[in-house]
Amino acid sequence: MEEQAAEVIINQAKLRLIQGDITKQDTEAIVNAANSSLMGGGGVDGAIHRAGGPAILEECKQIVARQGRLPTGKAVMTTGGNLKASYVIHTVGPVWHGGNKGEPELLASAYHESLKLAADNNLASVSFPSISTGAYGYPVDRASRVAIRAVDAFLRQRATSVREVVLVVFDSQTFTAYSLALREITGQDKKRD
Ligand code: ADP
Repeated sequence: MEEQAAEVIINQAKLRLIQGDITKQDTEAIVNAANSSLMGGGGVDGAIHRAGGPAILEECKQIVARQGRLPTGKAVMTTGGNLKASYVIHTVGPVWHGGNKGEPELLASAYHESLKLAADNNLASVSFPSISTGAYGYPVDRASRVAIRAVDAFLRQRATSVREVVLVVFDSQTFTAYSLALREITGQDKKRD
């Protein structure tokens, strides 16, 4: 169901934007917009657990037993179960409370911590959904800028194992917001060195 796509190169890594279903991606890891309980839920979280099977929830339960609930802005990694992706990186984005409760910093942290976990585990490719813009109510025009700034900053800061980041958005309005932000922040329309 890949309808639209855009791509830029940042520090020799590829940043792609596509419209599609994150559970179908074949990147080494996919990111889950989880909640702090790591017990699954609606939206993309439910879709990932349904497609990946019970092994993911089993590991989530072990993580929570060991270290408690996952704080907003942090990330942990589990198996990908039956998914094409080998791993799922679970992160918790902020609930939107109007923008003065640290939401931009917490959302940037969710992207940064997920990418750092991928790099620490030597992964080459990772897909993200549009974290916080569903049930958590973060306005998509603002969230798209935070997301792309965070990924851009991470890829620029140093060379890591991460060679490809895919932003997988579900609907065409979200795609439009992200593609505007991509152009605004990277200054690139298409591929370039
Ligand atoms: P949050 O609680 O962080 O807001 P949601 O899952 O409610 O997370 O929504 C985040 C975004 O993920 C929304 O834009 C939603 O449309 C989208 N989404 C839902 N299912 C999928 C899927 N299978 N693949 C990619 N994106 C999805």
